[in-house]
Amino acid sequence: MPASLPVLIAGAGPVGLVAAAALHRQGIPVVVLEAEGALPDELRASTFHAPTLDMLDELGAAQPMIAEGLVAPHVQYRNRDHSLIAAFDFTDIADLTRHPFRVQVEQYKLVRILARLLAGQPGFTLRLGAAVEGAEDLGDRVRVTLSNGEAVEGSWLIGADGAHSAVRRAAGIDFQGFTWPERFLVLSTPYEFADAIPGLADVSYYADPEEWFFLLRVPGLWRAMFPVKPEVSEEEIASDAFAAARMARIGVGPDRFEIRHRTLYRVHQRVAESFRKGRILLAGDAAHINNPLGGMGLNGGVHDAVNLAEKLGQVMLHGADAALLDRYDRQRRGVTVEHVQRQTIANKQNLEAATPEAQADFRRRMAEAAADKAKAHAYLTQISMLGSLRRAAEIQ
Ligand SMILES: Cc1cc2nc3c(=O)[nH]c(=O)nc-3n(C[C@H](O)[C@H](O)[C@H](O)COP(=O)(O)OP(=O)(O)OC[C@H]3O[C@@H](n4cnc5c(N)ncnc54)[C@H](O)[C@@H]3O)c2cc1C
Repeated sequence: MPASLPVLIAGAGPVGLVAAAALHRQGIPVVVLEAEGALPDELRASTFHAPTLDMLDELGAAQPMIAEGLVAPHVQYRNRDHSLIAAFDFTDIADLTRHPFRVQVEQYKLVRILARLLAGQPGFTLRLGAAVEGAEDLGDRVRVTLSNGEAVEGSWLIGADGAHSAVRRAAGIDFQGFTWPERFLVLSTPYEFADAIPGLADVSYYADPEEWFFLLRVPGLWRAMFPVKPEVSEEEIASDAFAAARMARIGVGPDRFEIRHRTLYRVHQRVAESFRKGRILLAGDAAHINNPLGGMGLNGGVHDAVNLAEKLGQVMLHGADAALLDRYDRQRRGVTVEHVQRQTIANKQNLEAATPEAQADFRRRMAEAAADKAKAHAYLTQISMLGSLRRAAEIQ
């Protein structure tokens, strides 16, 4: 293989650019192929967990994220009447991380920060308007075909091209799992919920068998997320009356909220059957998707990208056997299934618990964890994803 062939990365979303930055800092040339004509400006993810911030710090991106975002040291669970079920303080895991808090900031800001850090650097190329259509493993290199028919060759290909990944399809990798019947509606408003709800943390999950929701603050706005039943039409969901009715169920605030953004998402739990096929590797949403309760999708994608870049560095620069990349699959796919899928499904089921026994059980477990230092430490280790990284490191 010509030594000069770059690693190709499909997708300039947050995961593609983290992979690019993590490879580039080792001196490995990368070409990022992005289908859109501009960098994505999606709001979707807004939560960055402690170990993710530790990783982004190594790439020079954590401080700018903190500067543009909001540091949230607390998380709460509440009942619909706003009474507290349990409250946790991430400072309790300061022994495990340099960033014992969540940073809440829209995901497009990470994309812009990374693009700014990489722009103009030798060995980094970003091609916008370059949609990957096909991908072939040629044994000693990869060839990608763009939608304009152009062929681009590289040493390895990372598919970070999102849930509908063309790379995953081209590699013939199955995306197993299911889609939840309900969709999730996110509404954002400048209304200051913290003025109306005493002691409200910057992220608070509300458990309710009829309609759970959560409130999360990003700079200048609160985001509220609600499940929407399958029988409700998209037209109805888009109406002001529908948004007003959802916001009214929060039980505080004005008669009419000012709604700044309104986005409806289909929600899935799916994991690729493998994260590696020869020279083709998958990371981020191309490899796994889950419901957003707990904020684990993008964080897990960043953990994929950093793990993969380190192993590609070992193979490309230090003579490690390519079989090391199978360990990437075992580690990251392993914890995606064991931790991220399991935890996000449990998060949803806990909030919507329907029977009195299940509701009481959830509330008892949370209250017990919050009241005991060792249990709180264990719980925060798990929800900050430090536990999944610890487990991944154990997988050979
Ligand atoms: C409501 C909601 C809230 C969420 N909140 C959180 C949260 O708080 N924390 C969290 O961790 N996760 C959260 N997530 C999940 C998070 O948004 C995703 O996991 C994240 O966007 C994945 O990043 P990615 O880079 O893998 O994929 P994407 O962000 O989808 O980026 C993929 C990129 O690839 C490009 N692309 C697509 N096809 C091609 C192609 N054929 N060729 C070239 N380029 C292509 C796209 O244009 C895009 O730029 C949330 C999701 C939703 C829906």
